[in-house]
Amino acid sequence: MNIILIGVQGSGKGTQAKLLSKVLDLPHISSGELFRYHIDNKTELGIIADSYINRGNLVADEYVYDMVEAELKKYPNGFILDGFPRTLPQENFLLEKYKIDYVIWLELDDEESFRRISARFHCEDCLQDYNLIYKKPKVDGICDDCGGKLVQRRDDTPEYILKRQKKFHQKTRKVFQAENPEYKVLEVNCNRSIEDIHNEIVDFIR
Ligand SMILES: [Zn+2]
Repeated sequence: MNIILIGVQGSGKGTQAKLLSKVLDLPHISSGELFRYHIDNKTELGIIADSYINRGNLVADEYVYDMVEAELKKYPNGFILDGFPRTLPQENFLLEKYKIDYVIWLELDDEESFRRISARFHCEDCLQDYNLIYKKPKVDGICDDCGGKLVQRRDDTPEYILKRQKKFHQKTRKVFQAENPEYKVLEVNCNRSIEDIHNEIVDFIR
């Protein structure tokens, strides 16, 4: 069974993918994590991808395809893919090579998305994650664990969030809109608890 999760930043896509992965016993493949793996390990593809991300841009398709294809090859029995496809050409690439069974859209309005993402911080020393909405530090701007300074990821600043939202609406909104698709589509309202969202997705698939 092959499942695609699509959602704006902050919709909880990664969290839902991980929960679903456990319940369905399918591997969760996050294109974001895949890019980071390549970037951290300075693979040939990773160095190229990094130069795109640094400018707040999406990585060019030819490099994305190489990374995604090499990864999906490992899982002939199915996968949960999140973060890909983000554009129509990427969708075409995927549908030519794989049968997709379910497409799950995780919906969240731009304001709430912005609010959630701009609340994300981490400790620059021990890398502990914080969130000013869900997981506040005891002292503003200081890590509870090690006293380090809390910082934002460079792509979680307002400028980059707005840029990504715009790209999402311009490009990603257009994927999986075929009139007679072979895959089933679910739209989930993500302004609810993690558990409610998860249950709705599982009920849909089962
Ligand atoms: Zn720390």
